[in-house]
Amino acid sequence: AFNFSAGPATLPESVLRKAQEEMLEWNGAGASIVEMSHRGPEFMAVAAQAEADLRRLIGIPDDYAVLFLAGGATTQQALLALNFAQPGQTVDYVLTGHWGKTAIRQVAPYVNVNIAASSEANGFHDIPARDAWQLSDDAAYVHITANETIHGVEFHDTPDVGKVPLFADFSSSIASEPLDVGKYGLIYAGAQKNLGPVGVSVLIVRRDLLERSGQPRADIFDYRSHVARDSMLNTPPTWNWYLAGLVFQWMLAEGGVEEFARRNAAKAALVYGAIDGSGGFYRNQVVPAARSRMNIPFFLPDDTLNARFVSESKAAGLLALKGHAAVGGIRASLYNALPVEGAQALVAFMADFQQRHG
Ligand code: PLP
Repeated sequence: AFNFSAGPATLPESVLRKAQEEMLEWNGAGASIVEMSHRGPEFMAVAAQAEADLRRLIGIPDDYAVLFLAGGATTQQALLALNFAQPGQTVDYVLTGHWGKTAIRQVAPYVNVNIAASSEANGFHDIPARDAWQLSDDAAYVHITANETIHGVEFHDTPDVGKVPLFADFSSSIASEPLDVGKYGLIYAGAQKNLGPVGVSVLIVRRDLLERSGQPRADIFDYRSHVARDSMLNTPPTWNWYLAGLVFQWMLAEGGVEEFARRNAAKAALVYGAIDGSGGFYRNQVVPAARSRMNIPFFLPDDTLNARFVSESKAAGLLALKGHAAVGGIRASLYNALPVEGAQALVAFMADFQQRHG
């Protein structure tokens, strides 16, 4: 079966098989990796290797710290305000879908949110043109959602926001193509799409930003404390971190982000090609220049066909194609671990379904 889930999402089979073996005994150590102390030499080595591999995979410069943190992307969204903005200070958010709204909700109690641009009025079908953004003069940072998982909208270029640091939620597109980390002040991502299992988040932050005083906060909410303790301020999610490390090794062995960019472009071209070539039977409402390569929401001519599409595709071995409740319709997520054959199988099913129901 091919799994099109938006997250938790498909993982490489070879990684799952290795993890299955090592769940019982890791590397001849007499115990599973989940049974070992995070401060022991075995797990410390796993953790250090995972960070080194992620740095190599994405190309993270030395002046950026990398954290592996418990809690999802939503937790990081709240911590941005506490760590990098003064109480009540203005922060700029560019709103392009559901997850941008969530990000704003997380910081609203702590800061003054300026929505510098929004595509909400047109149903989140586009990215607002950069020259129309109304950035503040004194913002602590500018926040974007690099890929909107539910609305299927993606930034294909890094916007220039001048001297103010750019913060980006890359939860659903990290490691899917080459990324110029140096253009960002901070990048964060929940692992459960391209990086591994849910339960750990990756944060990449330019070290000089950690000198900001931010707001009164507990140690556990302070990124500086996590950096000082190599993400082991308290017990980290060791199993999730270990599995993410296996996914990093798999991605490097497959050819790195350049190779995944090629595969992801091929998969997206297949599915958008099937939608656009269906004579209007299938519809995607996002303007072509802003279409996501990772998540493709689309609609059938009649909503009553949705349940049939989902059940028939499931019977054909194509899993989790139901659209998100906020948007409806169908959604295909095409993360790194979904092979090109998965997109080919989906496109063949779409043609067959249209023939039977068109
Ligand atoms: N941001 C984006 C782009 C997402 O896709 C998601 C989850 O799907 C989140 C944030 C929230 O992540 P979490 O559930 O890990 O808090």
